[in-house]
Amino acid sequence: MSSRTPEPFDSPVYVSRPMLPPLEEYVVLLRGVWERRWLTNNGQLLLDLERRLHRYLEAPFLSVFTNGTLALEVGLRALRISGEVITTPFTFPATPNAICVTGLEPVFVDVDPVTLTIDPDAVERAITPKTSAILGVHVYGMPCHVEALEEIGQRHGLKVIYDGAHAFGTRVGGRPIGSFGDMTMFSFHATKLFHAAEGGALIVRDAEIKRRVDLLRNFGILDEATVVEAGSNSKMSELQAALGLLVLDRVEAERAARARVAEVYGRRIGRIPGLSPFHLPASVEDSRQYWIMRVDEQRAGIGRDALVDGLKRFNIFARRYFYPLVSEAVHLRSFRGADPEGLPVATRVSREVVSLPFFGELGEDGAHRIVDAIEAVCGFR
Ligand SMILES: *Cc1c(COP(=O)(O)O)cnc(C)c1O
Repeated sequence: MSSRTPEPFDSPVYVSRPMLPPLEEYVVLLRGVWERRWLTNNGQLLLDLERRLHRYLEAPFLSVFTNGTLALEVGLRALRISGEVITTPFTFPATPNAICVTGLEPVFVDVDPVTLTIDPDAVERAITPKTSAILGVHVYGMPCHVEALEEIGQRHGLKVIYDGAHAFGTRVGGRPIGSFGDMTMFSFHATKLFHAAEGGALIVRDAEIKRRVDLLRNFGILDEATVVEAGSNSKMSELQAALGLLVLDRVEAERAARARVAEVYGRRIGRIPGLSPFHLPASVEDSRQYWIMRVDEQRAGIGRDALVDGLKRFNIFARRYFYPLVSEAVHLRSFRGADPEGLPVATRVSREVVSLPFFGELGEDGAHRIVDAIEAVCGFR
């Protein structure tokens, strides 16, 4: 280890850097789109992507969307959810927003202090006659307590839905993450491991629900002369599908490259007092969406916010992800359970978490430079 102050990066290093195929390969697929003059509405590339994702994610039924948020909104409507949906405050705004926008009420409950996913006991305590679903988030690729939630759902007659935006390709004990619950949403936003610039998907386990999902994805149009519902328009275009197909070819290589970055982070950051890498259990295959650590201000001798600020001097832009809790947003803070007093774990965790730059191109050298900067900011050795 060097005792000199590390050099800042020449250009800003952000938390994510979208994976892109060589432009020439994209142009080849675009040429086909130009020749067919078919830009959206179940084009050849979209159907190809849907088939490949269906296989890759081992989904019972899968539909691709223009983004994950609209997929979740359509999913809630397709399952005819009504009244209250119990969910986590430790997530991206898209999760509770999808609940609100579909005319439902989010009810926030606290998270498990170890997994940071929705706490099944808290879910059970929050159930009322108005509750119709549980919406869990596999946050940072950590699977929810899927078995406990399934059991609670069955006992109370509730649908169990998952926001799997961080869990593309995650497996639990060998079982694909999308096989749990009634429905799982994935996001293919540019910041996600697998992306199509914008995009998303819904996995459902029932053919009838899949038909309803596809109906609501396309204005509620049943056939040329029949519109049966106030559906949305949330179809993915051929231009997005083309990018998605090329990115999908590279997901495994990207995940392997990120694993090498994670190895450096985990090994070195685990030695810095007060910094704790977020771990997944051995039974879980990591999606490699994010690399997260928690800062214990007492032991680290520096607070989370000061650490994030200090890294900016090195041109490193770590993120406080998720902070503040989404339940504190103006349009959400009056829903049941949103009071931070009732969310002690999520509130504390949101003040400790840091998401570090995490993408394959960073390489082991980049990871070492980032840890050097963290050590300098923390005054470690
Ligand atoms: C990215 C993300 C979403 C939103 O997905 P979009 O495709 O951007 O609409 C939803 N939930 C979580 C937890 C996310 O990280």
